[in-house]
Amino acid sequence: MYLQHLYPVPENIQIKEGCFVFGSELVMETDACLELAEQERIQTLFYQFTCTGATLKLLPQGSVSNEVRAVLHVGMEGALEQAKNLDSGGGYQLRVQPGGIGIAAKDSKALIEAFTTLVQLIVPENLSEGQEKFWIDCVEIQDKAAMAFRCIHLCVFPETKPLDLQKAIRLAGFLKFTHVILEFWGTFPYKALPELAWKGKAYSLDTIGELVTEIRSFGMEPVPMLNHLGHGAQCRISRGRHVVLDQAPRYATLFEPDGWTWCISNPDTHKLLGELRSELLDTFGPGGYFHLGFDEAYSFATCPKCVRHAKEEGRFLAEYINGLAAELKKDHRRSIIWHDEFLASKDWPEKIVASGGRTHQTADGIGYLDRDIIIADWQYYDGFPEGEPTAEYFMKKGFDVLLCPWIGLENVKDLCNTTKRLGAMGVIMTTWQALPSSLPMIPDMAMMMWDSVIRKEVSKLPNTETGALLRKLITGTRSFEDVGWIQPEVYPFEAHD
Ligand SMILES: [Zn+2]
Repeated sequence: MYLQHLYPVPENIQIKEGCFVFGSELVMETDACLELAEQERIQTLFYQFTCTGATLKLLPQGSVSNEVRAVLHVGMEGALEQAKNLDSGGGYQLRVQPGGIGIAAKDSKALIEAFTTLVQLIVPENLSEGQEKFWIDCVEIQDKAAMAFRCIHLCVFPETKPLDLQKAIRLAGFLKFTHVILEFWGTFPYKALPELAWKGKAYSLDTIGELVTEIRSFGMEPVPMLNHLGHGAQCRISRGRHVVLDQAPRYATLFEPDGWTWCISNPDTHKLLGELRSELLDTFGPGGYFHLGFDEAYSFATCPKCVRHAKEEGRFLAEYINGLAAELKKDHRRSIIWHDEFLASKDWPEKIVASGGRTHQTADGIGYLDRDIIIADWQYYDGFPEGEPTAEYFMKKGFDVLLCPWIGLENVKDLCNTTKRLGAMGVIMTTWQALPSSLPMIPDMAMMMWDSVIRKEVSKLPNTETGALLRKLITGTRSFEDVGWIQPEVYPFEAHD
């Protein structure tokens, strides 16, 4: 390998005698059905990881078998036969021999994961034009992920730079994440209610489409998100803005009196949210999930209509969520919700109960909730070395659970450990308003999610290694402002609220 380690570290790696040598071109034959964006990504990664000294001629054969194969060589007819005796083992197997490279993978996504391991093995020996020479140690790698759902949640604020989103997506994709959630904060150009975007601050559908393609090019799935309860303002509460009501006050009855929370008694709200979901689905394309939000709904059910349900808030809320989940099931999508509303203050230490459990009586709604809904249990408190208790609570209630850390690597480590111990569905890494300074943590997150190790200490890449990886993922010549990442001292960190 070229850097100190492979990232994330494979489950099993054996270095053998000898090496595979190649020059300015390599051929890759595969029977995987790769999308055009995936093919281009594979070729771009190869070009970047050979320091722009070599190109990859990709020959997809397009069979539809479950397991997929690939062979890389310098020109050998019928080479795909060479990979026949490899076994994906439910992930991928990668074998480098002096005559060529073979890959077996459980599917196209695992093939891309094998490829992102492979390019890290490339060592440049001569980068002079016309004399290009590279080698790869002979090696046998058997690898698969400890958890199926490895996700990052990215916010698109009016201040968010598309390049930072691109960097996050490329780091996550290269380091074998499976899903990317995009949440728009007054930045999606909805046709059903244009005032849901700030004037002059909306991302264009073309730009959003490019981000979706970026996500898909790594075999990841883009997951649309729209908060269906709190955060109706589509702004952080600490800033007091409201994307709709600051621009169009006559939409007030779509919301509770303070505007923060959607009014779920109003049929117009249901109709509008349905139209917004449709627009997101059209933009994001096929997929199996939709994130419905449900965090930080400080003012739930306070209007004259909603307040009638004061004695049965939990059931009122659960029936609303079940209705949304039923709509999404028609599109073969599972709903994800933040857990906030379903933990009561009286049952848990204050530090692990979110706003819903502190201000409303909705926790008993869990009994009415459709078990197909996925609970995203965010806990940002560093204090669960022995296991995060609320995840186990939701799992015992019969839900699939995603554990969701933020900002600190101790927090990431503890929640990844808990996910592995419980056999939970997976992890959503959150970044919120700290995306620029979160970028260098994405490789650390990937390391702790990928393997089956229960860690006592966090995995932290040296910044030199993280910088070297990111440099390979940003193509073309870039300016000072465009490269690397911004540290908190020049892009101040702000509290999460
Ligand atoms: Zn209401």
